[in-house]
Amino acid sequence: MSKLPHIGTSIFTVMSQMATEHQAINLSQGFPNFPVNEQLTEILSRLAKTNIHQYTPMSGLPSLLDKIAILTKQSYGRTVSPKEEILITAGATEGIFATIQALVKANEEVLILDPSYDCYEAPILLSQAKPIRVSLNNDFTPNWEVISAAVNEKTKLIITNNPHNPTGKMWSEDDFVHLEKLVDAYPNLLVLSDEVYEYITFEQPHISVHHRPKLWDRSISVSSFGKSFHITGWKIGYVIAPDYIMKEIKKVHQFLVFSVSSIAQHVLNEYIDLVDVKALGQFYQQKRDFFRNLIKSTRLTLLPCEGTYFQVASYANISDENDLDFTKRLVTEFGVATIPISTFYAQGNDLKCIRFCFAKDEETLQKAAERLLKL
Ligand code: PMP
Ligand code: GLN
Repeated sequence: MSKLPHIGTSIFTVMSQMATEHQAINLSQGFPNFPVNEQLTEILSRLAKTNIHQYTPMSGLPSLLDKIAILTKQSYGRTVSPKEEILITAGATEGIFATIQALVKANEEVLILDPSYDCYEAPILLSQAKPIRVSLNNDFTPNWEVISAAVNEKTKLIITNNPHNPTGKMWSEDDFVHLEKLVDAYPNLLVLSDEVYEYITFEQPHISVHHRPKLWDRSISVSSFGKSFHITGWKIGYVIAPDYIMKEIKKVHQFLVFSVSSIAQHVLNEYIDLVDVKALGQFYQQKRDFFRNLIKSTRLTLLPCEGTYFQVASYANISDENDLDFTKRLVTEFGVATIPISTFYAQGNDLKCIRFCFAKDEETLQKAAERLLKL
């Protein structure tokens, strides 16, 4: 009788619960553990006393929509219409759900590139469409031969995630040229571009669908204030899409949530003027380097990390266990919670890799590393 018989409890919930039960250091679920900026809490307490507690317009607070349009112009050089092409959503998750429900029909196909974040599959199944899972190469770059072979007339969407959770990989210019060619060859194909880590990039700059005029008319981008402003629990983000697509997404959003938390929107409307999102990369680069330096002394092998606040490491030198057993033992015997990479694949895998979240204060990262030295 279940409409989603294969969907279980998210690994992020499972590992965070285990971390609490065993009083482990939680580097599993992705969220910062440091305090938010005081300017944000000051705005929040000041505005809480004013008359801002009723519904905002369905698409979002008009002045916040205007500011998102300005940010998009500054970041990517693209002009978008705040009224027609931006929608404020209850986190990126709602944006992704509403987009898939609005655009994908029964029996159509949606391409997901594995390893992939976990919120894409359920809305596809609820649309009675078919998720087609295609694996990335072993170094987590896209394999365009395999991707092209998986696309056909029934493919409605290709979901991309760049910078990438869980691997921290970023696409090259060449990858976007391949994507453009694919979109060109299939007139019904759209791109759902999950860009929630757009401002958390290190050595190389992020390439957005908004940089690529050939993709503008065929792409939906998803952003998250949770990642960009260290407020994952606020569950607020936004979607940008061309008017003809956005009209359809708004129909679903209207009856999924109608509108998003008014207080969050009013606070962000002030706070967005004070934040330099361009500094986020540097902030997290310092954490990445700090964490990588600590992990170098352990028996784990670090993989490259180009963006996001996730670091993948291999334990192949240490154990033959599968990654789920290994992460469970890391919690119970060593007191550190991480995420097994196989859970990001439809068919699992035997990569023997785990994901750490390094969006933590230095003391937490240091303590975790001390425990991992015992491995
Ligand atoms: N996509 C990816 C790749 C993510 O890592 C996350 C973070 N949880 C989301 C979407 C969802 O973001 P939000 O918390 O804003 O719903
Ligand atoms: N995006 C977060 C992560 O990858 C998890 C969010 C959630 O728990 N749903 O860890």
